[in-house]
Amino acid sequence: MEKTKVVVVGGGVSGLTSALLLARTGKYDINLISKYLPGDYDIEYTSPWAGANWMSFATKEDKRQQEFDRITYEYLVELAKDMPSTGIWSKKVIQYVRQEDLEKESGLLGGLAEARPWFADLTPNFEPIARENLPKGYVQGITYDSFCINTQVYLPWLQSQLFVLGVDVRYKTINHIREAFDAHKSGQRAAIVVNCTGLMASKLPGVMDSKVYPGRGQTVLVRNHAPAMYNVSGTSDGDDEITYIMSRVGGGTILGGCYQQGNWNGTPDPNMAQRIIQRCLEICPELEQDGKLDVIRHNVGLRPSRVGGPRVEREKSPDGWLVHNYGAGGAGYQSSYGMATSVVNLVEQALLE
Ligand SMILES: Cc1cc2nc3c(=O)[nH]c(=O)nc-3n(C[C@H](O)[C@H](O)[C@H](O)COP(=O)(O)OP(=O)(O)OC[C@H]3O[C@@H](n4cnc5c(N)ncnc54)[C@H](O)[C@@H]3O)c2cc1C
Repeated sequence: MEKTKVVVVGGGVSGLTSALLLARTGKYDINLISKYLPGDYDIEYTSPWAGANWMSFATKEDKRQQEFDRITYEYLVELAKDMPSTGIWSKKVIQYVRQEDLEKESGLLGGLAEARPWFADLTPNFEPIARENLPKGYVQGITYDSFCINTQVYLPWLQSQLFVLGVDVRYKTINHIREAFDAHKSGQRAAIVVNCTGLMASKLPGVMDSKVYPGRGQTVLVRNHAPAMYNVSGTSDGDDEITYIMSRVGGGTILGGCYQQGNWNGTPDPNMAQRIIQRCLEICPELEQDGKLDVIRHNVGLRPSRVGGPRVEREKSPDGWLVHNYGAGGAGYQSSYGMATSVVNLVEQALLE
């Protein structure tokens, strides 16, 4: 029987993971098209710039986001255990909370201020940090086992899995979402288009989602190693600055960062870089091996944030079924398998109608 033709638009973590889970069903003839693909670096392409780790921001009430993150955590357990070629490894997370952030419970810091967040039973070795073991200035802390994803390794790995499963991957820029229906290499019309265009969903004709906006993030990639991954609830350098450390398998550590809503500026700010380095050294002095930090690169990426959370839903357009998967904000990796699982279900439902 001829397989149903599907075109996935987007070569970031959302598009690659959606294509992978669709391909694993064996039911579809899939093409993935994208303006940028793994190996490229551009301000319109968020995925290469991420840390990236699993550190859920889902609040206790947000069951949908929890489910996305839970499903992904379970995949990451397997990927880190059985497949070192993915660039994913298990790492301890240490999160500290300041007194003034205790009441904050939404957005980037959601869940942090809770002594027992929703994922306490999911993540092994979860435990509160005793007050006497907290650094000065912090009133609460938790630690648990999580994962760090080396995006330089993981994105090409995802792409290679698509090749193994016979997915056609190629560069193509579309100027309207309807063009994707005619982009299948067979020359026949696709029955389904999966839209994983990230931040550009805000500008792509036929989608033009006005709820999507950039959450600018600046980081410093250093050669130094940190013993764990760290995160702090807030900073005294302004509400849009944050502090985190993510140590990658294969070397290199990401120091962050900031979350600047609505800011499209792709140029690193040297003053902010200094503040990031200083804050990270305060919470992890062990970073400074041989008395210095060895900077590889200053990075800026734009998180594809969306008012009301990610859009993972199907839409009957005049051209055919669209399944959307974009707007993951700062959680595109840690929710990737959960969101892609929903994509598979939505595609199946659409084809039944
Ligand atoms: C500094 C920083 C740190 C982060 N840390 C983490 C973290 O620790 N954990 C985590 O889970 N997430 C993290 N994120 C968030 C994560 O990176 C994003 O949520 C994720 O990369 C979004 O992936 P995406 O595939 O939706 O979008 P993108 O990676 O932007 O991919 C979109 C794709 O669509 C293509 N496209 C767009 N328009 C068109 C068009 N017209 N025609 C053809 N192709 C098109 C693009 O070329 C691109 O390939 C971080 C982000 C930043 C910036």
